Amino acid sequence: MKTSKIITETLRRVIYPPRCLFCGSLLDYRTEIPLCENCRPERYLPQGPRCSICSRPVGHAGDRCPGCRNHQSRIRGRGTFVYDGAVLESVHAVKDNGMKDYAKGYAELMVRYDERIWCEWGQFFLVPVPVHPRRLLERGYNQAEVLARELGERLDVPVWTGLQREEATRALRGQGAKSRRESLARAFRVDGSVPRPAGKAVIVDDIYTSGATVESCAKAIQDVYPEQEVCFWTFSIRT
Ligand SMILES: [Zn+2]
Ligand SMILES: [Zn+2]
Repeated sequence: MKTSKIITETLRRVIYPPRCLFCGSLLDYRTEIPLCENCRPERYLPQGPRCSICSRPVGHAGDRCPGCRNHQSRIRGRGTFVYDGAVLESVHAVKDNGMKDYAKGYAELMVRYDERIWCEWGQFFLVPVPVHPRRLLERGYNQAEVLARELGERLDVPVWTGLQREEATRALRGQGAKSRRESLARAFRVDGSVPRPAGKAVIVDDIYTSGATVESCAKAIQDVYPEQEVCFWTFSIRT
């Protein structure tokens, strides 16, 4: 990091001290990982064998989780934390209260706890799951894009915004897997005028639930670029 950037960042942290990502308590401005002493991230890491497609915890090594078995998900990837307890509350707070700064902490934790994964990817670029322009106006930002930019900066990899939202989809929360898939089937499109970087495309979002979003994003990309390798990386995964 450049010296001027370090000074600006330190000042910002003194004026706006970081808060614990999980419980919201105030932290010392020198804290590197934005978590308090009571909130240990290890508690929210998936334990034991994981689904060979989506990384959800499963009974035996090499198994697919019921979601991936039933819906034939084919896009592999990784959710860093289990979407539960404080992680769940934190993700909702970011979505609903616009706590944009949390993305920095998410990125920090993803890079740290999934180091083995992103090191294995070789050359890759990040693709934030786009939100509809109307929702972008309401919220002021796309949390997946903010997260992707933070990850991109830390890992020095490009963020590609060529994947865009085609039409407003109904709020997905509360819908069953089947109707989520139907709602999302034609939700994304590729803007061919945005230059596509080389390497694997890694779809980034704050949460992976049924996998329908990731599958539709991948389909939209591969409809235009059939040879493009696609995987995903999310801050959390619903078990
Ligand atoms: Zn805490
Ligand atoms: Zn799975």
